[in-house]
Amino acid sequence: MIRSEKTRALAMLAAVLAIALAWSVPLAAQAPLNDWSRYAVHDGHVHLTNYIQEGPTAREFLKVMGDKVGRATLFGLPLQQMWSHGNTGDYAPTYYLQTDAPLYYYSFTDAYIAMQYKSLTPEEQARFDPMITGFNPADMYAADHIRRVLTTFPGVFVGIGEFSIHKEFVSAKIAGGPASLTDPALDRLFDFAGEVGLVAILHSDADVPFPKPNQEPWQILQLRDLFLRHPKATVIWAHIGVGRVVRPVQDQIGIIERALNNPALSHVYFDISWDEAAKYLVATPETIQRGAGLINRFPDRFLFGTDEVAPTDQAKYLKTYDIYAPLFAKLTPEASEKVRKGNYERLFDEARRRVRAWEKANVLNK
Ligand SMILES: [Zn+2]
Repeated sequence: MIRSEKTRALAMLAAVLAIALAWSVPLAAQAPLNDWSRYAVHDGHVHLTNYIQEGPTAREFLKVMGDKVGRATLFGLPLQQMWSHGNTGDYAPTYYLQTDAPLYYYSFTDAYIAMQYKSLTPEEQARFDPMITGFNPADMYAADHIRRVLTTFPGVFVGIGEFSIHKEFVSAKIAGGPASLTDPALDRLFDFAGEVGLVAILHSDADVPFPKPNQEPWQILQLRDLFLRHPKATVIWAHIGVGRVVRPVQDQIGIIERALNNPALSHVYFDISWDEAAKYLVATPETIQRGAGLINRFPDRFLFGTDEVAPTDQAKYLKTYDIYAPLFAKLTPEASEKVRKGNYERLFDEARRRVRAWEKANVLNK
C-alpha cells in the first residue's frame, strides 16, 4: 500500500516535471518576436487592401505572417476600382479587369494605413514599414500630399509606393489620364523622397504588353533616365518591370546587369515580387541559372516580395515564396540571406532612421 502510494506520487511528480519541461524548454529557447533570425523571410512588397480598399486588418495580417514572415511593408492600393452601374449593372467589380469603369486615386488609403499601424502595440509595429501611396504621380502637387501625410502622421511612414507609372491594363484606365516617366511631377516626387529619406517602390513595366519585333523599348530608356536624374532617392523597381503579359524585354538580364554595374545607378534596387514575375525567373533550368547567377554577383541589390493582395491565408500568401524555392536553392548562403531578409533590413532600417530625423527637424519642432 505505502509502496504503491509512493510509486504513484513519484509518477505524478514525473508527469508534472514532464509538463513543466515541455512548456518551459520551447519558451526558453524561443527568441523574442522581433528577433528577425526566427523568420524565413521579410516581405518587401505586399498589399493590405485590394482594388476596392478591402482586406484584413494589420493585426489579422500579422497572424497570416505568423512565424514565417518577420517584417513586411504596409500599404494598400492607391487606386480604387469604380463600380459604375452604367457599365456592369448590379455586378460589383473587385478587380480592374472585371469592368471598363475607370480607377481613381483614393487618398484616404494613407489615413487608413496610418490608423491600422497606430492600432498596434510597439512590438507589433516593429514588424511593419508603412508606405504612402494615395497620390497621383502625374500631379505636380503629389509631393505636397506626401509632405502633408508625414506632417499629419509623424512616426509612421518610411516610404512611398508601390505606385505605378506604366502598368499593363491599369494606366489607361486611370481617371484623369495616364502618368509619364518624363513628367516633372515625378521629378518633384523623387526629389522630395531623396530629401526625406523615403524608400520609393516604383512599378513601371519594362515594355508594352504586345510589342512588335524590334520595337524600341522606350519605357526602359525613359526609366533609366529617370533613375539617373535622381541619385539621392532610394528606388526599388518592382517586379524588375515584368508583368502578367509584359514579358522581359530582349536581353533583360543583360540590361539589368549593365544597370547593376553602373555606379550612377547604385541607388536602384530590384524586387522579384509577384508570381507573374516569378514565372519568368523559374521558367526553365537556364532561366533559374541565369537569374541566380545575376543575384549571386549582386547580392545587395535584390529583395523578395510576395505582391499578394489582401492576404488572409498563410499557404496562399507564401505561394510566390514557394515558387522561388528552386531559385533560392541556387543562391550562395550569403545571397539567399540578403535577398530574403538582409537587404530589406538595411534599406528600411535606414529609411526609418532618416524619415524620423526629417520629421524631428521639420514637423515636431514646428
Ligand atoms: Zn504590387
